[in-house]
Amino acid sequence: MMTSIGPLFDINQLNEAQQKQFQFVYNELKPQYTSYLEYKLSLPLKTQVNKEEEENEWNYELHRFLRARKWNVEHTIKALEEMLQWRRDNQVDLVLEEEVTLQRATLLQKILPYMNHGYTKVDRPLYMEKSGIICVDKILSEFTTEQLLRHHVYWLELNCQRARERSRQIGKHIESFTIVSDLHGCNMEIRKIFPPFKQSLYIDNNYYPERLGQMIFINPPTVFPILWNLVKPWLDPVTKSKIVVIKKGPEATNTLLQYIDVEHLPVEYGGNCQSCPTAPNCIQVYNWNKEDTKEKSKKIDLIL
Ligand SMILES: [Zn+2]
Repeated sequence: MMTSIGPLFDINQLNEAQQKQFQFVYNELKPQYTSYLEYKLSLPLKTQVNKEEEENEWNYELHRFLRARKWNVEHTIKALEEMLQWRRDNQVDLVLEEEVTLQRATLLQKILPYMNHGYTKVDRPLYMEKSGIICVDKILSEFTTEQLLRHHVYWLELNCQRARERSRQIGKHIESFTIVSDLHGCNMEIRKIFPPFKQSLYIDNNYYPERLGQMIFINPPTVFPILWNLVKPWLDPVTKSKIVVIKKGPEATNTLLQYIDVEHLPVEYGGNCQSCPTAPNCIQVYNWNKEDTKEKSKKIDLIL
């Protein structure tokens, strides 16, 4: 039988000094957290909130923030307070059920082909994206920066939820996820979306610390070093240490298979995934030309 809650946070995994720091943060934030939980329970959510599970998740959250703030209790408390306030101000707990956000995610998938694709060898939810073939102009004409950031929050919440579900499923705590970004086709145009990208990094660092398990870039184009030099200054050392770049070539698949089992990897990357409804073309690429042609002929019809 599947239990309704993943493994409980075990304070004994921490050393004595850390246990004291954890307990201090926990006690200091108890009133704020209780009030936040009451707020969350009062939201009109379709998915029922399990109070016991929320409290367990809160312990893991404290642990992640403590790690990210190098166990400095004052910094951790301040960061957690800001995070709770940000969640309320932006109704983050409603984002997964927000109709307009779900619709935008479907549209975005056409502009930037992506897929939530199984798990890695260490059971992290895996997200794969064909970043290199993103329609940069389309994304900027269809979405405002605010909408793109809302999507980013949706994406983060979705992957946190996938990690939570995985924890329940396998009885082992999973809290981070892996991103595979295929840069095939990427050119300097992509710089146009760097401003919202930079803003999304702020959200990652401040409200979702320790959530990125690994970021794997595959098929880096020749302009990659130039792009990388532009992005590098925005990344903290911990994030940088989680980035892997796999060069094109005969060894690429073997390297990828060190992180992802063959059945969780799409065929086009050397795997043999058969579990996707769209397999063997797991990550569907939308044909915009077809639509553009349709649009054009529609316009011609109108003129005629
Ligand atoms: Zn697949």
